[in-house]
Amino acid sequence: VKTIGVLTSGGDSPGMNAGIRAVVRSACHHGMQVYGIRRGYQGLIEGDIVPMGPRDVGGIINRGGTILRTARCKEFFEPAGRKTGAEQLMKRGIEGLVVIGGDGSYRGAQALESEHGIKCIGMPGTIDNDIGGTDFTIGFDTALNTALDAIDRLRDTAESHDRLFYVEVMGRRNGFIAMFSAIAGGAEYVLVPETKTSVDDLVESLNNANARGKRSSVIVVAEGDEAGDAATIAKQVAERSVFKEYRVTVIGHLQRGGSPTAFDRILAARLGMRAVQALIEGKTGLMTGVDGRDVVLRPFSDAWERPSRFDPAYAELMQVLAL
Ligand code: ADP
Repeated sequence: VKTIGVLTSGGDSPGMNAGIRAVVRSACHHGMQVYGIRRGYQGLIEGDIVPMGPRDVGGIINRGGTILRTARCKEFFEPAGRKTGAEQLMKRGIEGLVVIGGDGSYRGAQALESEHGIKCIGMPGTIDNDIGGTDFTIGFDTALNTALDAIDRLRDTAESHDRLFYVEVMGRRNGFIAMFSAIAGGAEYVLVPETKTSVDDLVESLNNANARGKRSSVIVVAEGDEAGDAATIAKQVAERSVFKEYRVTVIGHLQRGGSPTAFDRILAARLGMRAVQALIEGKTGLMTGVDGRDVVLRPFSDAWERPSRFDPAYAELMQVLAL
């Protein structure tokens, strides 16, 4: 493989730029030609493809979002769309592709590979940490720290006014941001989609906390909790707990932006370099990830067949320390 392309697809996440930089510079280090494909599979189909060199990725390591931009692309679900995409690559002699995105983007890459023989390697980029095959995704740590910063600020005002604060954080399919930010932020309670939420338990826990002398509490809610959003849960609790005054804050898309943390930049750098090496080795159909301290390559299917799960021990830790 002498010529490769790199694209970002699906939802953006902080650290994608650090990933693009790592791919471009690693490839150039090995004397390869690199193309940047703008707007994911949409740009691929349209031929929005530009050569990239080491200087084109200067000054982006600290920037959130993705300089290549990203998109969702309906046509890529169809064989005809993928055929056009493959032709755009072949026209330029691009034999390998690094796809930075989530499991949906890998499904597209897998189809492109099996139908047209383009070698594809994935890098996990999403704030939700909801991709199997890796302990962490690029962007999760930054989003977690943004959520934590919000929790810290809300705690200041909660304590000053003896109030209950609900903080709704991102996480439609899992409670990673919620659980980690709740532990790090010293929250009283956390509600995540992985465990069934009991409003009764929450009410009892808050009443007990009050009896132990706690006059303010922070409750973290993952947006995808099966019991509903933070506002719905807060209303139900207020009807039954001793805490009548409460405030709900939805952090929302603030969690998607911002300068990536050192953790995310280093993760992106390691995975980007590995992705390029994998293409040099002639590998395909794999995603890069971390397993403990190691950078690993796993089949794309791990992304959707092995949903990343947090250890139930975190829930216990949370409960014990909220005393
Ligand atoms: P993510 O990669 O973050 O999971 P999406 O699920 O939105 O994001 O997928 C991004 C893009 O990948 C889609 O807009 C589509 O172009 C492509 N894609 C997703 N699933 C498939 C599939 N089953 N077959 C072909 N392409 C797909």
